Amino acid sequence: MALRLRDWLISRQRYWGTPIPVLYCEKDGMVPVPDDQLPVELPYDVEFTGREGNPLSRSKSFVEAKCPKCGGPARRETDTMDTFVDSSWYYLRYLSPRDEARMFDPEIAGRWMPVDQYIGGIEHAILHLLYARFICKVLHDFGLVGVEEPFQNLFNQGMITRFSEKSGRVEKMSKSRGNTVSPDELIAEMGADTERVYTLFVGPPEKEAEWSGEAVSGAYRFLTRVWRLLERLPEAPPTAPADAALERDTHAAIQRVTQSFQRFSFNTAVAALMELSNSLGKALEEKTASRLRCEQAFDALVQLLHPPRAHPPGRPGGRQAARPGGGGRHGR
Ligand SMILES: [Zn+2]
Repeated sequence: MALRLRDWLISRQRYWGTPIPVLYCEKDGMVPVPDDQLPVELPYDVEFTGREGNPLSRSKSFVEAKCPKCGGPARRETDTMDTFVDSSWYYLRYLSPRDEARMFDPEIAGRWMPVDQYIGGIEHAILHLLYARFICKVLHDFGLVGVEEPFQNLFNQGMITRFSEKSGRVEKMSKSRGNTVSPDELIAEMGADTERVYTLFVGPPEKEAEWSGEAVSGAYRFLTRVWRLLERLPEAPPTAPADAALERDTHAAIQRVTQSFQRFSFNTAVAALMELSNSLGKALEEKTASRLRCEQAFDALVQLLHPPRAHPPGRPGGRQAARPGGGGRHGR
């Protein structure tokens, strides 16, 4: 792996962030905080005034410390680490979050690493992702992880945009722009399944997509139609001449949904489900398929609507079986 990393300034003049465990003594200069005084925790008596500079530097209880070398007065470092420092290795910390002595348990990391699938915005591709890979390589060289690359697959999702009353333009959905949609209200009105179907159907997940209230209603109508199909199944005749057509449509839908899933192309998977529901509706309407075929089509439709977790591409399914939900080592 050839990385062209630039020097990375990890310090920030912010309250939030991990304190840099360093003290300054007039006599001894820069002194690291001894292990038994770690972690250095952020103080609570901080005033956020909006004035220039780091609010931490105005917290006496934080700044004033004792030099571990000479016992004289020392000043605590008030810069904190950028949050990228944490996100560069948190995938390892998640594996042993309660370990108080080490960053993570190398044995557990050996069982779980690398990460199967990384999903993130493209804005992380040149900073966070590079640092995360670099730090993994360093930890590998230290013998703490068995892999040099932390992530097996990368998927960059697009952003959701929406018309903003404030600016009169379609913009990235964000709280500061006042154009967000509360999922709670949507779920209360049309249910969580509508929200899920809409989110998957809004467009190719790697592209930007504009939120549309009308399309949300479309997702709701689709699910209502599926529900009505169930009620209409008994209308199907015992035998029918055109059984093969509905059976073909059913298998075509299974194939399309499966392939779409593997490509993260969830919008085309939903489109395939809508087509299958239309074929089944038409067969029931025109009585062209038998009851058995209609029931098979409906079963397939419902199963495809709530698919089990797919194995990530390139990963043998057997590995999943070796991951019980705990095994005694995870939680303490
Ligand atoms: Zn000193």
